[in-house]
Amino acid sequence: MITVSAPVAPRRHHHQLQSPTPVSAALPTHRHDLPPFLVRGSEGSMWIAPMAGLTKILLPLLLLSVAAAASPSSDAEAVSRFQEYLRIDTAQPTPDYAAAVAFLRDQAAAVGLEARTLEFAAGKPLLLLRWPGRRPSLPSILLNSHTDVVPSEPKKWEHAPLSATLDEASGRIYARGSQDMKCVGMQYLEAIRHLRNAGFVPDRNIYIIFVPDEEIGGHEGVELFVASKEFKELNVGLVLDEGLASPGEEYRVFYAERSPWWLTIKAKGAPGHGAKLYDGSAMENLMKSVEALRRFRTAQFDLVKSGEKAEGDVVSVNFAYLKAGTPTPTGFVMNLQPSEAEVGIDIRIPPSVHTEALEKRLAEEWAPSSRNMTFEFKQKGSVLDKLGKPAMTIADSSNPWWPVFEESVRRAGGKLGKPEIFPASTDARYFREIGIPAFGFSPMANTPVLLHDHNEFLSKDEYLKGIGIYESVIKALATHKDDGIDEESRAEL
Ligand SMILES: [Zn+2]
Repeated sequence: MITVSAPVAPRRHHHQLQSPTPVSAALPTHRHDLPPFLVRGSEGSMWIAPMAGLTKILLPLLLLSVAAAASPSSDAEAVSRFQEYLRIDTAQPTPDYAAAVAFLRDQAAAVGLEARTLEFAAGKPLLLLRWPGRRPSLPSILLNSHTDVVPSEPKKWEHAPLSATLDEASGRIYARGSQDMKCVGMQYLEAIRHLRNAGFVPDRNIYIIFVPDEEIGGHEGVELFVASKEFKELNVGLVLDEGLASPGEEYRVFYAERSPWWLTIKAKGAPGHGAKLYDGSAMENLMKSVEALRRFRTAQFDLVKSGEKAEGDVVSVNFAYLKAGTPTPTGFVMNLQPSEAEVGIDIRIPPSVHTEALEKRLAEEWAPSSRNMTFEFKQKGSVLDKLGKPAMTIADSSNPWWPVFEESVRRAGGKLGKPEIFPASTDARYFREIGIPAFGFSPMANTPVLLHDHNEFLSKDEYLKGIGIYESVIKALATHKDDGIDEESRAEL
C-alpha cells in the first residue's frame, strides 16, 4: 500500500496544507464549532488539516456563514458543486481518479474536514476524510461512496452524459453518476457543511470515504481497504453505502444483498451427422439443462410478479452466453452435431437461501455428470459473513442503529419503505462480510431507477432534499448513545 500525502495534480495551497503546525498555535482550538485546523493524532499522523494557511482570510467568512442557513443562493452553489463533480470523467475502464480526488480534497478543505489519500493499488486512490468527534473512542460512522461510474453511450443521451446539464424546465440534472452515486458523495459533504455551519459537533468520529473501482467489483478498492490497518484504526460501528432511486414517495433502504454465482455449464457428447437422431449429444444434454434452469427462473420470477416476494428475495437466473458449434470461416458447419456445448449463467442468491441445497441441485439436475456435464464457478459469492452468519444487517429495533436511522429520516420529512435486499452487488458486502452493519441508502424519491441506463438523471429538488435527509441522519447517528454499541468504550467514560 502506498500512502500519498499530496494530491497528484499541483493545487493552489498544498505547500501550506503540509506544514500546518506553525499556524496552529494562533488558532482558537478550544472552540468546537470551528474547523479542526490542527493535524490530529500523535506524531506520524498523516492527516492533513484543512485550510491551514488560509485561516486568516477564511475565518471571518466562516463565522459569517454560520448565520446562513440553506438559502436559494447556497442551494444554487450546492447544485453547481454537484455538477462540477459529475463533469469529471471517472467512467470505467479509464476513470480519472486523480482529478476526482483533487476536486474532492478541495471540497473537503472548504468544508473543514481532514483528509488522507490512501492507495492500496497503484493509480487507484481512496480518499479518507475525518470529522473528529468529541469522544473519538466511540465506534465511528463511515459514509461510503464510490468515485467511478459505468461508461455511457453519449449518442443515446438527450444531453451529453458528462455535461451535467440542468434542464431548467424539468429541474433534472442529466449525467452519468447523477444517481450512481456521485449524488450521495456530494450530499454527505453538503450535509456536513450545513451541520458545521450551524455549530454542530459530533460525538463520534465521522469518516467519509470516496473509493475507486466499485463498478468493477471493488477488489482494488474497498476489499483491500477493509483488510488494512488504516481501516481497523477507524473503529467503525456503522456504514452507510448506496441504495437505489425510488419511483414512489418512499425512500428505499437495503440491509443485505444477493451474492453472485457466475458459472459455466459444459456438456460433452459423441459428435454425429446432422441428420441422425441419437441420444446423448452435447447440444441435447445442454438444452435439457437450459430448459430446467428456465423453469426454475420462471418460478422465481412469478413470485416477484405476483408481489409475493421482492426482487431481492428471490434467486435470479439469467443466461449470459451460449457457445457451441464447429466454426467455418463464414459461420458454422451445419451438418455436424458438435461434441461440446457450453452455457454461461449469472445467478444471484439472497442470504436467506440454503446454498448447499442449491449447489446439490446444480450438480444433480442442472449439470449432472450422468449426462456428461460439468460446471465451474467463475465467481461464487458467499451469502455468509466471516463468522458463518448470513451477511445481513438487522433492520429492526434489535439493532440499536436502526431506530435511530429510521427516526432521523422521518424527522427530516422522509418516508422509508420496507427494508429490502439489494438485487445486485455493492461495496457494502465487504463491510457486512466482516460483521460491520451497513445500510444501503441513496435518498432519491419520485425518481425512476436509471443507474447504468441512458439519460441517467436526478432532479435538483430531490438532490437538495437528500442533503437535508443526511443532515438529520448524520446528526442523529453522530450523537446516538447506546450501551450495546458503545460497550467497548464504556470503560473509558
Ligand atoms: Zn453504485
